Amino acid sequence: MTFELLTKDPNTKARRGRLQTQHGAIETPVFMPVGTQATVKAIMPDQLRDLNVEVLLCNSYHLFLRPGHETVARLGGLHRFMGWDRPILTDSGGFQVFSLNSLRDISDDGVRFQSHLDGSSHFLSPELAVDIQSALGSDIMMILDDCLAYPASHFDADRSMKRSLAWAQRCRKHFETVGPLYERPGDTRPARQLFGIVQGSIYPDLRRESAERLVAIDFPGYAIGGLAVGEPKPLMYEIIEQVEPYLPMEKPRYLMGVGTPSDLVEAVARGVDMFDCVMPTRHARNGWLFTKDGHIVIKHSKYKEDCEPVDSTCGCPVCRTYSRAYLRHLFLANEILSSVLNTIHNLHFYLDTIRRIRQFIEFHRFDDILAETRRTGAH
Ligand SMILES: [Zn+2]
Repeated sequence: MTFELLTKDPNTKARRGRLQTQHGAIETPVFMPVGTQATVKAIMPDQLRDLNVEVLLCNSYHLFLRPGHETVARLGGLHRFMGWDRPILTDSGGFQVFSLNSLRDISDDGVRFQSHLDGSSHFLSPELAVDIQSALGSDIMMILDDCLAYPASHFDADRSMKRSLAWAQRCRKHFETVGPLYERPGDTRPARQLFGIVQGSIYPDLRRESAERLVAIDFPGYAIGGLAVGEPKPLMYEIIEQVEPYLPMEKPRYLMGVGTPSDLVEAVARGVDMFDCVMPTRHARNGWLFTKDGHIVIKHSKYKEDCEPVDSTCGCPVCRTYSRAYLRHLFLANEILSSVLNTIHNLHFYLDTIRRIRQFIEFHRFDDILAETRRTGAH
């Protein structure tokens, strides 16, 4: 068993757990910064370690196209390549390929697409998605799924969900074949893992069927996919509530691509353990900084001579040293350090939010942080 459920909140579905991987344990709930091109933009791996980042998400699509998964494998795998010795979760590449719109063609066999870099043609099958992630040396891999846009009709969502299920089967079968090829003799670390992904758009009957049939295949963890794609927030929370009862209690649940700090709290309350989102890092580079009272836009003229830190309650190295005025100056001057410092602060804010969530669950007081989030409505 790689996942251990440590504590459950008595009043909500919030859980505190620990997931074992080849590159160490992940405490859950967990937030995974996104390292698209084998780097979290504007920040060094050492700084990520100092911020207590436990696991990164990297994108198969980008690494498949450049520098190529086989190149990364020959260079010793993704961990060595990017200088990161903690766990890595990779997506299957599906979401990026499906986002290409005019550049792709989907069939039951897989997706044909053109590279956004040079227009070259490629075919992504469930088997190749597993091969790419295996070659990268990912600790947690994701199945290839059919990512549907929102809104979608029940008919389209049904077809897409069933295609995703068929792909899940194929990924699982292929994973069992290629997985042992990457095992080293005598290695006692936990094996690499392949997670399933629940689809079914906004339709409860499809979500239920997807979850039940994935659980029958039996994965070590389950993601909820196809959310945060434009649907209203209350609907997203509702879908999580509908899916949750069909997911095994003793396996981790991962909500893909979500979200704001308050989304994390709301989803944890509904039984989610894992998150990834580009929001803290992308917003940082755009000068949008999270604080306990809501976000601030650092370029605003009111910060021109503001000596205060971004957030006076934040313990990050940026808030301990620099003023809003300085960060505003760096941003307006288009200095590289602007992205670096803003990224450190925003990631610290997210990781601190997750740390507080864990502590409140441990003390059986998760209600308090939930109430506080709903009262302040800061994010
Ligand atoms: Zn800070």
